[in-house]
Amino acid sequence: MEKVNTKVLVVGGGPGGYVCAIRAGQLGLDTTLVESGRLGGTCLIRGCIPSKAMIHAASKFDDLRHHVGAGHLGIALDAAPRLDLAATVRWKDGIVDRLSSGIAGLLKKARVRVIQGHASFSDAKTCTVAGDTPVEIHAEHVVLANGSVAAALPSLPFGDGVISSTEALALSELPKRLVVVGAGYIGLELGIAFAKLGVAVTFVEALDRILPIYDSALVRPVEQWLRKRGSAVHLNTRALGVARRADGLHLSVQTGDAAPATLVCDQVLVAVGRRPNTRGWGLENMAVDMNGPFVKIDAQCRTSMRNVWAIGDLVGEPMLAHKASAQGERVAEIIAGKRRAFDPVAIAAVCFTEPEIVAAGLTPEQAKAQGIDIVTGQFPFAANGRALTMEAGSDGGFVRVTARADNHLVLGIHAVGAHASELSGEFAHALEMGAVLEDLAHTIHVHPTISETLPEAALGALGHAIHV
Ligand code: FAD
Ligand code: NAD
Repeated sequence: MEKVNTKVLVVGGGPGGYVCAIRAGQLGLDTTLVESGRLGGTCLIRGCIPSKAMIHAASKFDDLRHHVGAGHLGIALDAAPRLDLAATVRWKDGIVDRLSSGIAGLLKKARVRVIQGHASFSDAKTCTVAGDTPVEIHAEHVVLANGSVAAALPSLPFGDGVISSTEALALSELPKRLVVVGAGYIGLELGIAFAKLGVAVTFVEALDRILPIYDSALVRPVEQWLRKRGSAVHLNTRALGVARRADGLHLSVQTGDAAPATLVCDQVLVAVGRRPNTRGWGLENMAVDMNGPFVKIDAQCRTSMRNVWAIGDLVGEPMLAHKASAQGERVAEIIAGKRRAFDPVAIAAVCFTEPEIVAAGLTPEQAKAQGIDIVTGQFPFAANGRALTMEAGSDGGFVRVTARADNHLVLGIHAVGAHASELSGEFAHALEMGAVLEDLAHTIHVHPTISETLPEAALGALGHAIHV
């Protein structure tokens, strides 16, 4: 067995692990990264990037369909667009391959030793990686970045037409009828993309509304889009089980206390959340404390075991790639002796639905629940020139700013609307820099851009918006 001694061992090559390893390498630490699959992890290989590629392709296809016949914007197509799903999936895979090789190059440049295989821990600082030549690794510091896996429902085990997001992103053929169980991030992002590709999509959600993590005003435009497109949404509904019959899969569902009903479809996408990847690699031998199903960490991402750190989806919500990367970077710097903590003012989130939703910081309700006296301002995309020129003004979109009433400190910025995702960086920046309403209102934003909605919303909170 080959033996490796290393200063820093990072387990997992997702956005948490690979960023941590690159930063550790940059800081001159002898660093080893072990990855059992492909570099890039869930986010790059079967999550963020492939889903956004498929969402983009679906939107393009849907746009083109609007030009058929009489046309749209004076542009008419004589024939309906045709979809070659295999070619779309190949295009998506090409992007993934390119980015994954890019990560390999970056790790090499940072002098990180990359070992391919599954790490199994016998104690907190020792693991073995099986393979043709098994490797035993002993590390001074261990960074756990093992990520998460799709949660399964006992009543709907994966297989025979019941799929997770991983399979949904690599289909060889489109189903005619798809039922999506779970109307959260994945269910809605992918469900809407499939609807744009012409699939008849039905949503089944256990709670009383879709995207329950966002406030209802933000979700309303998405609900309107689904209604307009004829996608059925069954709220307060549980999936009881599935059986294959001659005409397709029969999914038995129950809404509240009503009698069970049957939804007939070709495939069922189960998207009911993800669970931390804590099984099958010896976590139990490392003596780290847990926080429910997650590995417990402090503000510096330390676990309860000395020099064992944990980051990303493994340590809890929000399960977002940029949170994992930020934690990875901090941990590398702390190990290198810098004074750092993971203490963001806000972690912005985007749901790439139609239209897109952005959330950064506190909503008005959350601020009020904390006893804070607030002012809010809201500006509609319908009153923004650039939004109208980009056909982004008619889907109910808006930007909303929430600030303290006393000193105008901005507490939260939220938006819904086409292209809104690109505003998320400015929202996060404003919160992190401790902006007040006057900072947002008096920063001169380029005209015509959708970003002008932000100073207008801030002016609204100050009581003197110009364009509404
Ligand atoms: P992961 O990316 O899960 O990486 C963990 C890695 O560790 C994996 O590659 C795994 O193979 C490896 N590993 C685990 N155990 C071992 C072991 N014992 N030995 C060796 N290797 C091991 N987030 C966003 O912010 N924006 C999005 O748009 C977005 N879209 C998503 C879409 C989908 C369909 C899905 C499923 C997720 C999406 N996410 C998105 C969430 C995002 O993918 C995760 O938050 C992110 O990947 C977490 O990063 P991580 O480094 O913690 O773990
Ligand atoms: P989610 O938590 O976003 O949504 C799960 C949904 O399923 C919820 O609405 C929940 O009420 C519902 N649900 C749970 N059990 C159910 C049941 N038995 N029957 C019907 N509905 C049920 O989880 P997800 O969509 O699987 O995504 C997992 C995670 O991946 C997200 O939490 C997010 O952190 C990450 N993600 C992020 C993005 C993004 O940033 N754009 C995109 C995709 C995924």
